Amino acid sequence: MIVSEDAHRGTAVIDRQEQDSDDLFAVAVQQFDIAADVIGLEDGIRQTLSHCQRELTVHFPVEMDDGSVQVFAGHRVRHSSLPGPTKGGIRYHQSVTINEVRALAMWMTWKCAVVGLPYGGAKGGVQVDPKQLSQTEVQNLTRRYTTEIQPFIGPNIDIPAPDVNTNPQVMAWLMDTYSMNVGYSVPGVVTGKPLELGGSAGRNEATGRGCVFAIEEAARTQGMSLSSARTVVQGFGNAGSVAARLMSEHESPVVAVSDSRGGIHNPNGLDLQAVTRHKQRTGSVLGFREAENVTNEQMLELECDILIPAALEGQITRRNAASIKAKIVAEAANGPTTPEADSILYDRGVLVLPDIFANAGGVTVSYFEWVQALQAFPWSEEQVNERLRDIMQRSYVAVLDTSRKYGVHMRTAALVRAIERVASFSRLRGIYP
Ligand code: NAD
Repeated sequence: MIVSEDAHRGTAVIDRQEQDSDDLFAVAVQQFDIAADVIGLEDGIRQTLSHCQRELTVHFPVEMDDGSVQVFAGHRVRHSSLPGPTKGGIRYHQSVTINEVRALAMWMTWKCAVVGLPYGGAKGGVQVDPKQLSQTEVQNLTRRYTTEIQPFIGPNIDIPAPDVNTNPQVMAWLMDTYSMNVGYSVPGVVTGKPLELGGSAGRNEATGRGCVFAIEEAARTQGMSLSSARTVVQGFGNAGSVAARLMSEHESPVVAVSDSRGGIHNPNGLDLQAVTRHKQRTGSVLGFREAENVTNEQMLELECDILIPAALEGQITRRNAASIKAKIVAEAANGPTTPEADSILYDRGVLVLPDIFANAGGVTVSYFEWVQALQAFPWSEEQVNERLRDIMQRSYVAVLDTSRKYGVHMRTAALVRAIERVASFSRLRGIYP
């Protein structure tokens, strides 16, 4: 791991490509410390917020289809309940560790605080490769994991949501298991549910839509016209494909998109509906007839105005940051830019819209779903989208002001804003007892 510091910009320089997930919590704490230094955060609050408040680790058996029994390890971590109930996804992945879950929980606290949601951060994970399990086995695993963490979660305590390898069906099993255990239906215990079970209109599109709202604001302050801005989108999944479609609705030519197998490029703009049909037919965007194939590495360095990383973490690093041509990088993905690359982009005048702001549309509409569940009163998709736009616009202005006030880049500014907010709850609430 390479770590250095640039106090002037408030930047922890850590090459995350050389990290494994066990180090992720150290990265999260380091980022927190740098932003805490910028505002001179008092020691007591600094110490409190650099730890996770509650952590639960469970080991539980699942009966497999062949009658054998496998024992799985799972976690649920709540970083801070100072702002309110905690919120964060559940991840099923073979590489899940307690430190990864801790880091993701802390980042959720900051993400909720940046956009002003009344939640602290949490995260959950089970160490499993669900692609190796049948649907019945995934259901059994979900129901038993839910029961194991049940004392830890609840609509006023901690509200899970989907994350990597979990989806609305898994959320429906979680909601049903919790409800069966307490004896009545509790739709507010989880978000990201199927629409029929109280999921919110607009939730599926929320991350990509929120990211495009953020880009609209950034373009406005940069004096950039979106109708002529060329956009590149890395990752054509939930977040990326929606962001690409909404950018094209602005008449911004989307000149390249990619998936795990590679990308396609047409400098005159891609017909996204035709690309989607091609991907449905062949399983990849590669080989689309009106474009040239490019690698995922080439994608990032293409001539464009806006780059939307919407795939994995650690994509923009010290190795390629100097070659990025975009004027705005909008992080739909979590952690796509290493802290060292942040500094390089900042020096070159590239505006980075950081993940804890730019992809907060997902948790924001999760919050709307929770509110609708508590009120048992669904909103229209128009209401959801308008409220999301309002929150993203106001948050952008606040992060930009913070960035100017402290002379730091947008990521540190977003963290500063989040920490200031959570610290104020701590001061007002005091220390119990
Ligand atoms: P997804 O699985 O729907 O899509 C991921 C896409 O990335 C797929 O098209 C996949 O082929 C592609 N991909 C995988 N490896 C790649 C690689 N090496 N190079 C290029 N593309 C690659 O996932 P998603 O829900 O769209 O999430 C994408 C990112 O957005 C993740 O970082 C996730 O944490 C973040 N995010 C998603 C949400 C949400 O609500 N979906 C919310 C916040 C953040």
